[in-house]
Amino acid sequence: MADVAIAGAGLAGPLLAVYLARRDHRVTLYERRSDPRAVGAEGKSINLALSVRGIDALERAGLAERVLAHALPMRGRMMHDRDCTLAFQAYSADASKAINSISRHGLNGLLLDAAEQQPGVTIHFEQRAVAVAAAEGELTLEGPSGPHTVTHDIVIGADGAYSALRAAIVRERADVHQDHLSWGYKELTIAAREGAFALDPGALHIWPRGDSMMIALPNQDRSFTATLFWPLDGPAGFADLDDAVEVRARFACDYPDAIALFADLPGEFRRHPVGSMVTVRMWPWTLGRLALLGDAAHAIVPFFGQGMNCAFEDVVELDRCLDESAEDWAVALPRYAARRKPHTDAIADLALENFVEMRDKVASPVFRLGKRVEHAVERWAPERFDSLYELVSFSTVPYAEARRRAAAQRRFPHNVAAVAAAGAARLRAAAGRKDPS
Ligand code: FAD
Repeated sequence: MADVAIAGAGLAGPLLAVYLARRDHRVTLYERRSDPRAVGAEGKSINLALSVRGIDALERAGLAERVLAHALPMRGRMMHDRDCTLAFQAYSADASKAINSISRHGLNGLLLDAAEQQPGVTIHFEQRAVAVAAAEGELTLEGPSGPHTVTHDIVIGADGAYSALRAAIVRERADVHQDHLSWGYKELTIAAREGAFALDPGALHIWPRGDSMMIALPNQDRSFTATLFWPLDGPAGFADLDDAVEVRARFACDYPDAIALFADLPGEFRRHPVGSMVTVRMWPWTLGRLALLGDAAHAIVPFFGQGMNCAFEDVVELDRCLDESAEDWAVALPRYAARRKPHTDAIADLALENFVEMRDKVASPVFRLGKRVEHAVERWAPERFDSLYELVSFSTVPYAEARRRAAAQRRFPHNVAAVAAAGAARLRAAAGRKDPS
């Protein structure tokens, strides 16, 4: 059995540790931060949307139930217009389907606990991976007592969007494209009101404003975390606003129904950092004994709520490749990477496209009507039509296949004909059942 190092104990790293330990590998996780279970929440995004792909990966590790016990289901989007009218749009034609709001900090702690409970897993915090010799499996770390080098059979870089281990592959042979979005994000708190949620907790709330938007996801303590997605620069950008009067004026104009919900709007706006978003496309993901996984290999923007779900799918695929290759890592690592790459490229594109949908299109009555028609068609002919959202968020159909199917369905005349034919067949069958003649 192999001795595996994983750099990064965020979301994918500890889940991978659980999977590998169950295959009897020895796993050491190295994390640059302190143990988040001891120090409290810090860092990017307070809550995340967990959907079917992520749940599937957790289920295979026996963790889904434990995680979902801490999640809040969101069955659709609640759009907040400038004139304060609300419009709810279900995510699926099947009204019982939901994506799940979960605390990043809570999920991270739960995954760390699960990894630690496995025999053969060790976690070292405050150990930053700074370099790797991929051919030898030598990982150089910097901790409180200075730099040191450890040697493992295999090194996995699960060290996030700004991965340090990626550099080892880039230096040798990789093609890398990093596209930084010219929008940033900032998180603000909508506190509970008299112990109750200030907004409907069964929805993901969106204030679409064309070039920018705000969203809010519910938390278990009955607060919401609102996230502003604004241009970094320019007249409607973060850089343009810093004084309390201007902040209030902008909120009064763009989010009139929400402004009163923020307990400390100017204070949080001033204190909370502006996060950046990047899409990373690189190839290859492996070199010698090193492989990248999760955001380290393929960071995407967060607008389809799929980055973590996709990273968890990487874990499932690597596990499958180890199975198929009878634990031959030299076969399994490149196979895992080759299988995942087309799908991570597809979701990277879809996530960028969904930003336009969320910040702009959802505000349009025509778009909303289109969604209602889409759901009606899904209900009418479920065997012939699945919306893109359905395929991405409520199935494990590989992303590239989901994109291909959704594009084919968009060929409208063909689709209408197919749906009409399926519907007519149904009616005939129903009539046949009623009238035996
Ligand atoms: P991370 O979770 O980032 O973990 C990387 C870990 O590596 C961290 O713990 C970090 O401290 C550690 N690390 C970094 N460098 C080093 C180093 N040199 N040495 C050792 N350790 C290191 N995804 C969804 O599925 N649904 C969502 O709703 C969603 N919302 C998002 C909202 C925002 C605002 C953002 C920014 C992202 C969102 N994502 C969402 C994406 C999701 O956060 C990531 O895709 C996911 O965290 C990837 O997991 P990971 O383990 O690859 O990386």
